[in-house]
Amino acid sequence: MTPVAAATPTGLDVEAVRRDFPALHQQVHGRPLVYLDNAATTQRPRQVIGEIVRFYEQDNANIHRGVHLLSERATKLYEGAREKVRAALNATLAREIIFVRGTTEAINLVAQTFGRANLGPGDEILVSAMEHHSDIVPWQMICQERGAALRVIPVDDRGDLILEELERLLSPRVKLAAVVHVSNALGTVNPIRQITALARAHGVPVLVDGAQAMAHMAVDVRELDVDFYAFSAHKMCGPTGVGVLYGKSHLLETMPPWQGGGDMIRSVTFEKTTYNTLPHRFEAGTPDIAGVIGLGAAIDYLHGIGLSRIAAHEDAVLAHGLAALSEIPGLRLIGTPRRRAGVISFVLDGIHPHDIGTILDREGIAIRTGHHCAQPVMQRFGIPATARASLALYSTREELDALARGLRRVLEVFA
Ligand code: PLP
Repeated sequence: MTPVAAATPTGLDVEAVRRDFPALHQQVHGRPLVYLDNAATTQRPRQVIGEIVRFYEQDNANIHRGVHLLSERATKLYEGAREKVRAALNATLAREIIFVRGTTEAINLVAQTFGRANLGPGDEILVSAMEHHSDIVPWQMICQERGAALRVIPVDDRGDLILEELERLLSPRVKLAAVVHVSNALGTVNPIRQITALARAHGVPVLVDGAQAMAHMAVDVRELDVDFYAFSAHKMCGPTGVGVLYGKSHLLETMPPWQGGGDMIRSVTFEKTTYNTLPHRFEAGTPDIAGVIGLGAAIDYLHGIGLSRIAAHEDAVLAHGLAALSEIPGLRLIGTPRRRAGVISFVLDGIHPHDIGTILDREGIAIRTGHHCAQPVMQRFGIPATARASLALYSTREELDALARGLRRVLEVFA
């Protein structure tokens, strides 16, 4: 592979960025690693890894309950990370930030609390046809339990949501609409502001699955006017096992607790328990303290570089990659949305995506193949699976050229 370009026209020094990521600098099957599976999980920079190690070496203690110095330090770091998340999302209040295990748990939390409190027979939840399973199954489960129905906002042949259909589906029966910000299967960037405006006109709250957005674009929950926003740290250069549910305080205040245990209570007797205030009411038990601090470090890292600079860089690499892939005979993109983030899903005539992935792996190129936990959208496009290359801030044009070369190799093998 040719060396990565230094200063790009977008002002991001990708070579310097790559030096921060130790995992990128290795050989795979004797070839330099080309890591294009960032939608599954990103790599972590030294700054995040180092902060987690530093915490365990110097500050490790449980939070919120100790009077000793280490516990105070750990609590300060943990709550400091909450403030970093608040600022990153431009949320009004730190108590609107709930730490959870990830996007999946955040959505389950809303389904099990807001859903259980608000859904009854005949009520409806709207989801889009391009949702990840984690934004479908929790709603199916609670709808089934409460006698409510799940309705689907369809997508068109390009992979864009059909907003007229959303308008048609909105009614007093709808208790919540759940949509993905950026589709992990198609790359579609949904027009969240338009969606929340439509929903608001019908008094319907909106939950946005931001798993694929947070590392790639600036997200302002007030500007987007979302009611709930969910994301995972590991898809934004942070650790696994940690994520965030943002919720507007007036909604979170009315939601019953979900998991019971330590930290979420104010007082407990065998007769009666009173619950803690936000955000602790939804954070039962000892959380992943080091993980939350690592998430704070990931936010510092990404915001230190600048989300708009990252977005411009990824857009440029994406455009280069799409042009390179357009020259591969028999390659068909799945999803050609009006606005796309750095996710490229494709199929090759007559070649199973798993075979593509396996041959590319031998070339040192890591991509994802399968249904990407979005089986309904695969069914919508009449395919069982795709091959998917996905970008991050450290992705380069040269890596996309390597992908195109690898795909020509796949064609040779199957010729
Ligand atoms: N939503 C989207 C759009 C995703 O891409 C993913 C993960 O791939 C998830 C939700 C689930 O995230 P997690 O497994 O971190 O909970």
